[in-house]
Amino acid sequence: MTLRNLTILGATGTIGVNTLDVVARHPERFRVVALSGFNQIERLAGQCRQFRPRYAVVPDAARARALAALVADLPVEVLHGEAALEEISALPEVDTVMAAIVGAAGLRPALAAARAGKRILLANKETLVMAGRFFMEAVREGGATILPIDSEHNAIFQCMPAEFGAECRAQSSEHPAPRPAPRAPRLPAGVRRILLTASGGPFRTRALETLAAVTPEEAVAHPNWVMGRKISVDSATMMNKGLEVIEAHWLFSARPEEIEVVIHPQSIVHSMVEYRDGSVIAQLSHPDMRTPIAHALAYPERVEAGVPWLDLARIGSLSFEAPDTRRFPCLKLAYEALQAGGAAPTVLNAANEEAVAAFLAHAIPYLAIAEALAETLGQLGTAPVGSLDDLVAVDAEARAAARALMARHAAGARRGA
Ligand code: NAD
Ligand code: MG
Repeated sequence: MTLRNLTILGATGTIGVNTLDVVARHPERFRVVALSGFNQIERLAGQCRQFRPRYAVVPDAARARALAALVADLPVEVLHGEAALEEISALPEVDTVMAAIVGAAGLRPALAAARAGKRILLANKETLVMAGRFFMEAVREGGATILPIDSEHNAIFQCMPAEFGAECRAQSSEHPAPRPAPRAPRLPAGVRRILLTASGGPFRTRALETLAAVTPEEAVAHPNWVMGRKISVDSATMMNKGLEVIEAHWLFSARPEEIEVVIHPQSIVHSMVEYRDGSVIAQLSHPDMRTPIAHALAYPERVEAGVPWLDLARIGSLSFEAPDTRRFPCLKLAYEALQAGGAAPTVLNAANEEAVAAFLAHAIPYLAIAEALAETLGQLGTAPVGSLDDLVAVDAEARAAARALMARHAAGARRGA
């Protein structure tokens, strides 16, 4: 058994809380060195009290003072700002970094963990969507490894041939074997396709003509999963699956045509790998993020996650259907952005974050999310990107462009009303 020293970025979010739930079940295996939070300072203080990290990071000086006051009796050092997030991602005493900040804010700390050669438990899919090429390069150069947390990608990882996790196992061992040679940029030998499952979200069967009137409250009410608000809206539009197609492309070196999305409303099969001989291997579990989190935390060992055992007889039936791109135009946009490459996925992700935030704030209607993405992609999708700085600039431009066109539409709608 290996003792793991952890940094948890985004500890106060859904993934962060689930991670700490698993950690608390195995105090002999996992030690928390650093935690980060953003708005929920009291929750972060509670986590500091329970897990006794050496460092806690918040966004600014005011919240640092608030947290410091709450944990004055603890030996925790309170830091603040983006540089501090990078610092706790690269601490020499930390071997494993859970990257569970939501959105583009998670990119720089994840890159810092990659350059420092950490074992990265990657929940923040936006890192791969925004900057897949640069992030994967940093992982290779830094000698880091990635264990996917997103349930589908974690499932795919588990269904891949055993050689697939070799780098990770070498890094995990107390007596590491020489690192295997880097994999060729294609699916492992013998694998034909990835079958990425999607629940279809809350609007899978809702009458198409009623989608215009969908409210944020309806969109965040996911039938199977309890998640943060942004990813819940992404599940309703299926943009989440689109982001996951791009994520799978980078994690498994799969071309767009080697990734097929299949709707599976029960969310029991979390994804599958199809082999050349016709075999399809699936990973099944309850839709509870503690399973992929526990898998990645303990990999290659297995530990209890606190998740109930799967009772298939009680579940009864598992069904599958093809996604309808009229209902889910965002999914099609994501495939197009992946095909186009370059700036397109970054633009898509940035415009989506802005559009989802506007929708959650009741500033734009549900159907305007996909429209905003298509228009922003049209404007900026082919912008040149030679470096990470270019990508960061494109990200900012795409946000500004998406905000401007949503403001114009909103003004038009008010005039029309
Ligand atoms: P969440 O909104 O519940 O939590 C987000 C965390 O990020 C919080 O700790 C928050 O304090 C922190 N944060 C927010 N903005 C920040 C900023 N600007 N700077 C620094 N920290 C900031 O989100 P979540 O559902 O836990 O998702 C986290 C990540 O995991 C996302 O990238 C999401 O796509 C991914 N993910 C989540 C699930 C899930 O089931 N929740 C599943 C798969 C992947
Ligand atoms: Mg997922």
